[in-house]
Amino acid sequence: MNVADSETVATILRNEGFEIAGDIESADLVLVNTCSVRENAENKIYSRLKAIRSYRGGNPSLKIGVIGCMAERVQQDLIDNHGVNLVAGPDSYRKFPELLQKIYLQETAINVELSTDETYAGICPTRLESNGISGFVTITRGCNNFCTYCIVPYTRGRERSRDPQDILQEARDLFHRGYKELTLLGQNVNSYLWKPGTNSPESQDHNIGNIGFHQLLSMVAREVPGMRIRFTTSHPKDMSDETLKTMAQHGNICKHIHLPMQSGSLDVLKRMNRKYTVEDYKDRVSAIRLILPDCGISTDIFCGFPGETENDHQETLSMMKWVRFDSAFMFKYSERPGTFAADKLPDDVPEEKKATRLQDIIGLQNILSVESNNADIGKIVEVLAEGLSKKSDKKLFGRTSQNKVVVFPKMVYSPGDLVKVKIIRCTSATLIGELVK
Ligand code: SAH
Ligand code: SF4
Repeated sequence: MNVADSETVATILRNEGFEIAGDIESADLVLVNTCSVRENAENKIYSRLKAIRSYRGGNPSLKIGVIGCMAERVQQDLIDNHGVNLVAGPDSYRKFPELLQKIYLQETAINVELSTDETYAGICPTRLESNGISGFVTITRGCNNFCTYCIVPYTRGRERSRDPQDILQEARDLFHRGYKELTLLGQNVNSYLWKPGTNSPESQDHNIGNIGFHQLLSMVAREVPGMRIRFTTSHPKDMSDETLKTMAQHGNICKHIHLPMQSGSLDVLKRMNRKYTVEDYKDRVSAIRLILPDCGISTDIFCGFPGETENDHQETLSMMKWVRFDSAFMFKYSERPGTFAADKLPDDVPEEKKATRLQDIIGLQNILSVESNNADIGKIVEVLAEGLSKKSDKKLFGRTSQNKVVVFPKMVYSPGDLVKVKIIRCTSATLIGELVK
């Protein structure tokens, strides 16, 4: 999401006559786009800022800006204590021209106002550091779910959906630039809802009814039939059968769903305010297996949420085994100031417990990933080649529809090609294949 936002910022700055510098030495302004979701992410930014400040030795007028969630959360302290000139929250990027003018006149500027309707309509992102094959299209901004541990609703504000015409325009733009795959982005893509007449004045002319996520998905799939379509993130409480059926209907929608589970304990899910039960989650997984038998499922899990008992932890492990996730992002709970959990639920799982539980989760997921990959041996899959393998320039790597990474012989192929590959071996993270003659 931050890559997509940086691309929007780059467009706004380009329109003002700025150019992207090749490296920090030749830059007049460095913007750091940030994440606040865990304390670790913020600590990395503090050390990054320190490193960037050292370039002021060679260029005393170097300006530093912090944008994104940390700008919204930490605000003035970044200016007062971290040598930052500019602080701009996720909804203030259109204000860049005036903010930049201000830092050149008065050294510092800050705008952390959140908006209820900013969707950056009409700004088609400049693609940054992209492989030219896979691009992002933001479909919603913000989040209304208020999971009790999560900072996102505070840093990114209320949920709003972008005009479908803007989304289709970006999809066409990627297609015309030669991209082969696009990922629709939102904190909870399944709650996408466009009501004509909201968000953009022009939309009042579009004579169409409300558009939900499955309708949008099918519009995008039809608009760019030559491209692969992905989306992330899905919220279990809003993942509908219509969406699954739409995925089944369109060959170009990838058969992969990222469905964050967070915990396998009913009590913990309740305290997290996830708004689904363990049974609801299982029901969604069963629906996926029924409607999309070849669909990959990945997830997010974190341990050590306030009050998590050994029994809760065991329930998470059993749910992992029940679902048999293909892959997972796994974390330890990190208390975020200002959230409901930080205010009301003591962070009472000791750090060592969090660490051992995380090890259990990672260990189990490794086994599940190997099992899932082993089951692919012998299959013939279609891989979108993304680049040269890190280990050998005679090999390419790419992804299957299920989002698994495959390494295979390059031969006559190049990044961007769709290649038929037979899987012959695997590790827990990678499938290894040979070309199908
Ligand atoms: N909107 C997405 C998630 C965005 S944050 C969703 O609801 O699925 C990405 C992941 O970070 C979350 O799924 C969760 O697993 C993790 N996360 C969020 N806040 C966290 C916190 N305070 N501590 C640890 N992990 C957290
Ligand atoms: Fe955070 Fe929950 Fe919203 Fe995801 S759905 S961004 S975890 S509040």
